[in-house]
Amino acid sequence: MTTEATAATGATGTEEEPVVHILWINAGLSCDGDSVALTAATQPSIEEIVLGALPGLPKVAVHWPLIDFECGPDLGADTFIEWFYRAERGELEPFVLVVEGSIPNEAIKDEGYWCGFGNDPETGQPRTTSAWLDILAPRATAVLAAGTCAAYGGIHAMEGNPTGAMGVADHLGWDWKSKAGLPIVNVPGCPTHPDNLSETILYLLYQVNGQAPMIPLDEALRPTWLFGRTVHEGCDRAGYYEQGQFAKEYGSPTCLVKLGCWGPVVKCNVPKRGWINGIGGCPNVGGICIACTMPGFPDKFMPFMDEPPGGKVSATFSGAYGGVIRTLRAVTQRTLDKEPKWRHKGRTLSTGYKAPW
Ligand code: SF4
Ligand code: SF4
Repeated sequence: MTTEATAATGATGTEEEPVVHILWINAGLSCDGDSVALTAATQPSIEEIVLGALPGLPKVAVHWPLIDFECGPDLGADTFIEWFYRAERGELEPFVLVVEGSIPNEAIKDEGYWCGFGNDPETGQPRTTSAWLDILAPRATAVLAAGTCAAYGGIHAMEGNPTGAMGVADHLGWDWKSKAGLPIVNVPGCPTHPDNLSETILYLLYQVNGQAPMIPLDEALRPTWLFGRTVHEGCDRAGYYEQGQFAKEYGSPTCLVKLGCWGPVVKCNVPKRGWINGIGGCPNVGGICIACTMPGFPDKFMPFMDEPPGGKVSATFSGAYGGVIRTLRAVTQRTLDKEPKWRHKGRTLSTGYKAPW
């Protein structure tokens, strides 16, 4: 999404107002689901970011393959990939590099390549995604890994995969810092939550613009304010868990742990936040949490739809305790669900009101 204005001003460094560029590489191993998810963001929306509708936001030019209309031929006037060549030549300053998809290990085979993006201008041969990462990461002010594939490798990095796929931090190193001193920022999720991604992009833009302190990250490089709580702690169904009421089949409003929900140990704010505009969020709407934001996803959480081992123990305790609690609560509820005896409840009206019919 490169607006005409930003395309015109962001090209050469002659712009009157500084432009922060976002270079989006979705050429890792992925399904583009994180790009699709971002189109659903509302807090803020990508349109609000691009159009500068938020106070204090720098002018932004987003070079995002999903919806970019720059599609001219290589070396043409509106070549999408030219922005990436400009960044390589040091002509875009500053820029945030967003990576979507896992990075295959191109070093583990003799010929061919796993994935790439455009050509090397020197050789005219395809340039691999990992080569782009090596070239652009040192020039970027910030590097954002969007989605679990880019963050930790995700589904493509399952045990036994032939590509040696990994996350950006596995490729560059977990201690990697940008030239501005920022660590890699991971916004995992399969796909990432729309607003978690747009909010983190917004934070980085403010930080690049000198208007926000260092982004707070946890040990897995996730923003702490987004990934500091478990699914369970924000789940609509947590009350049922506490009362020992567990679904045996889909369609029940009760807790899904016996159907395979990993929510009690998974760091994700989706049930609290909803999926789009506050609505939805996996367990809230009947889906088990399969732990898609976690570094060990998916291997450590399979087979899906089996009761998690820890869940068996805690749900057994909760089942016993919850039965007692439920009985006691029912007694209290019956008592509290009535007016106190000194109110005017009864068949005789003390107000003198007479019904007109
Ligand atoms: S459905 Fe999952 S997250 Fe929700 S209360 Fe049950 S175990 Fe916790
Ligand atoms: S609730 Fe679980 S499955 Fe849903 S997005 Fe969060 S981590 Fe993924």
